Amino acid sequence: MFRLPSLDLIRISSIIALSSSMIIGSIALRGVLDQHQRAGAALVELQLFELATAAATAITKERRPLELALSAEPADAAGLTAELKASRADADRSIARFRQLVESSALASSMNFNFLTALLRDERRAADALLALPLAERQVSLQLRVARGMSSISQTFVPFVDKTAQRVIEADESLAGRVNVARLLGALYEAATRLPSEVMPALKRSEVIPPEAVMTSMRVQQRILALWDVGVSQLEFGLDSPRLSQAHEEIRSVYFGKGFPFLSRAIETHSRRPLNSVEQAKRISEVYAPTTLPILRMRNLYVDAMMKEAVTIQESTLLQMKLVVCLTVLILVMTAIAAWVLYRQMLRPLLGVRDQILALCERRPLERRPYLGSVRAVASLYKALETLEDRDRQRMVLELERADLSERLRTLSETDELTALPNRRGLFARLDGFGEQGRDYVTILGDIDHFKAVNDTYGHGPGDEVLAAFSECLRARASPDVVVARYGGEEFAIVMRSDQLEAVLAFAEDLRAEVEALVVETSAGTIRITASFGLAHEVGPVAAWPTLFDIADRALYEAKAAGRNRVRLCNATIMQLGASALSSSGALSRPGEAAA
Ligand code: GH3
Ligand code: MG
Ligand code: MG
Repeated sequence: MFRLPSLDLIRISSIIALSSSMIIGSIALRGVLDQHQRAGAALVELQLFELATAAATAITKERRPLELALSAEPADAAGLTAELKASRADADRSIARFRQLVESSALASSMNFNFLTALLRDERRAADALLALPLAERQVSLQLRVARGMSSISQTFVPFVDKTAQRVIEADESLAGRVNVARLLGALYEAATRLPSEVMPALKRSEVIPPEAVMTSMRVQQRILALWDVGVSQLEFGLDSPRLSQAHEEIRSVYFGKGFPFLSRAIETHSRRPLNSVEQAKRISEVYAPTTLPILRMRNLYVDAMMKEAVTIQESTLLQMKLVVCLTVLILVMTAIAAWVLYRQMLRPLLGVRDQILALCERRPLERRPYLGSVRAVASLYKALETLEDRDRQRMVLELERADLSERLRTLSETDELTALPNRRGLFARLDGFGEQGRDYVTILGDIDHFKAVNDTYGHGPGDEVLAAFSECLRARASPDVVVARYGGEEFAIVMRSDQLEAVLAFAEDLRAEVEALVVETSAGTIRITASFGLAHEVGPVAAWPTLFDIADRALYEAKAAGRNRVRLCNATIMQLGASALSSSGALSRPGEAAA
């Protein structure tokens, strides 16, 4: 059979629902928090990477002002050396910024900045020494040495950049592709700026480019092409930004379309025949250098894009975290409200109904609160309870009426209509529980003498009036200790507690005398009567009332037999011990003892 889920099941289900929403919430929160932390860590590493690439670029950028200054006489080079100084200061600042951040990070021990700065100082000194010479004395080999010295600084700095790149990838693997592209672009820029420094010294002096410089420039050219090839395949990755695509296209058309072939041709030409190429060298320098700039721009765009993305992820995950927390709190609050409403609208009212029903069963008054909720089933239950209460109230009224009626019936059935005294049934009902432990009782039966003659002489109506008057004499003596009743016909009974036999006999005698003196004014005239009384005395508790009445009846018979209008006593205890044994002793009755 299908069974409805119990309240416990509902309670367990709501606890499960609550805890699962909390678990799901915390899992979601955990995931988003992870993402947020990863983005935060990646951002920190990206900042280091950016500073590293900026420093590498600044070092590379020292080359051009140096080359320009080397092409001028010391006396004419004031402006150019100022430019060189500015770019050196810029490189120093970039390195210092990077170093500062590195020293506050875990990378501090793995990077030897002192070696780098010492190397930089030495190379700059060598360059300055060359700059101090007149133009004519700046031999190609000397210039090449200075240029290669500057390159070696760039090479020394490569592991610094690589380490920061590695850390970015460790923080967020998904950035590996773009970090590598940025590194390739950095290397490409370095090689592209290095390429002229191998050939320009000879060109500027209209000398044949030394073979080993040609060889080196060939290697650099190959490196540039290799980097671009690797780069091209990599650049497919993440080229969704129009600015990146544009920069990519510029490298292709400007650098590889113009600058690189232009310089390659010049190198090829001047490696074979010495020409007065000072003018052309100047042109090469002016044309080639700007074509390298798109490479730099694209590298910077990549780094910027990565940083922006990390910031965006951080912001969006923060938002998601807030959302998850809000939703979880909302679910918890909603569930709590639902539980509260369920309790207020259903559970509590149902418990109230239960209490009401119990109170109804136990007939105990209980203040009833109206149902204020909106659950229809509960409302109809309250309505049904109201009906039940109304019915119960009606039933109670009926029961009271019935009890009253049966009480009245009982009184009627136990009361004599004529005299309003208890009849024989009423007498025995009152005697129930009247006999107490350790007390003596006296039963008196009184009978009107020759009453048949009264009826015969005056009629039944006056006879009734005489009966009523006689009963009044008896009623006057009724009390909680004295029960008076009509025993039957013109015979009446008096039952009282008393161990004072003398007093009881006096009581009976007093009654007899009162009856004798009674003058009954009836519709048929004045009637006078006498009555005879038989007493039975029980010592101790009464065993059986009818027996006691029988004994009293025998005493009454004796009173009649003795001439009427008198009182006779029989002792019940003696009678029970043995009437025959005692009769001879005269104790059975004492006729005439109390007779008038
Ligand atoms: P005794 O002295 O021996 O008692 O003689 P008695 O005539 O009183 O006794 P008996 O038993 O012969 O007659 C009793 C009469 O009482 C008979 C009956 O008609 C009358 N009686 C009994 N009940 C009533 C009643 O309610 N009203 C009237 N009017 N008479 C009654
Ligand atoms: Mg009689
Ligand atoms: Mg009589």
